[in-house]
Amino acid sequence: MAEIFVSHSKRDEDIRTFFANIFAGENVAGKFVEFEEYQAPPWQYIQERVNAAKAVFVLLGPHVQELSYTRDWLTWETGVASQVGRDIWVFEPFNQWCNIAIPHVSHYVVYEQIPDAITYVKLIIKSYDDTGQLASLLRGATIGGGIGGVLGSISGKKEDAGASAVLWALFGALIEGARTDPSRVRPMGMPIKCVCNSAYRVHVLLDNFPCPICRQWIQINWALRPRET
Ligand SMILES: [Zn+2]
Repeated sequence: MAEIFVSHSKRDEDIRTFFANIFAGENVAGKFVEFEEYQAPPWQYIQERVNAAKAVFVLLGPHVQELSYTRDWLTWETGVASQVGRDIWVFEPFNQWCNIAIPHVSHYVVYEQIPDAITYVKLIIKSYDDTGQLASLLRGATIGGGIGGVLGSISGKKEDAGASAVLWALFGALIEGARTDPSRVRPMGMPIKCVCNSAYRVHVLLDNFPCPICRQWIQINWALRPRET
């Protein structure tokens, strides 16, 4: 089962519960890693967990901000995730702004604990579900392998049949994988570039919000944006 590395403070109980309930019943496991209880040595543990995960969720909250060492870990953690190309989702509760600068952010979500947010976060989680994808990858490989074998025997070169079967299997898997890619359902937010030069995607319904990277306030005039027709 796919895993999402969730970093948070166990003291932000309501936030943890809110997200744990959303993960329940999904085909993606939320690996809740608490700053307070890193297994020793923490750097190795984090590196392994982040590597195994499809994405990283950072759940900001009052207690993440309170403890100074959590900031150092957070910095490093997102660095590891960014190095291995994982999406880093930062979730910040509306009107409970945390004054923490996070160096690596792919997506920034400002939310309230309401049903709409549950639906939205569920969609994000589902988009990392690889169970269906894996099944169709295998199906694609079988079909592709069959075609490759036939083409190989027509050309009459026995030794090529194996190689082309492998190629076709890969090709079939690619097509099939793309068709059923769960990442298509992933909410993508709006691309933004802050004055601090950081580019990431925001998921907000606000005119004002703090940049999670430099913590300067950003103002968006939605009216100036092109409308969908
Ligand atoms: Zn910024």
